[in-house]
Amino acid sequence: MMLTLINIFRLKCPVCGKGEFLESRPRLFFKIIRVRDRCSSCQTGLKIEPSFYYGSMYVSYALGVGLMLFTTFIYWSLSNSFSVLSCFLWIVGILLALNTYINAWSKAIWASFFFKQKFE
Ligand SMILES: [Zn+2]
Repeated sequence: MMLTLINIFRLKCPVCGKGEFLESRPRLFFKIIRVRDRCSSCQTGLKIEPSFYYGSMYVSYALGVGLMLFTTFIYWSLSNSFSVLSCFLWIVGILLALNTYINAWSKAIWASFFFKQKFE
């Protein structure tokens, strides 16, 4: 379980945990995230079927809402006078900055639901 979470965070192959999961590393702000056709280490096909990773939208939604609640809590606990507008702008800024990471992690989480790990 812990290894799976570390693998997801490091964006490694959901099967072997060694090869790269994505074609390139995510970065802050905008970048297209693509999953590799095959793992660079164990050669497992990472695209089970066409449009397989569309399902990661559900995970992405959950991560986005979680990040929004986390940002609201941090803003609320650090600000003296709570302003809805500035809290909203913080949420939008953080979501825009982290959107490629949310996209990449949600694909890794989605893949971990369907691939059987061989590293534990
Ligand atoms: Zn692999």
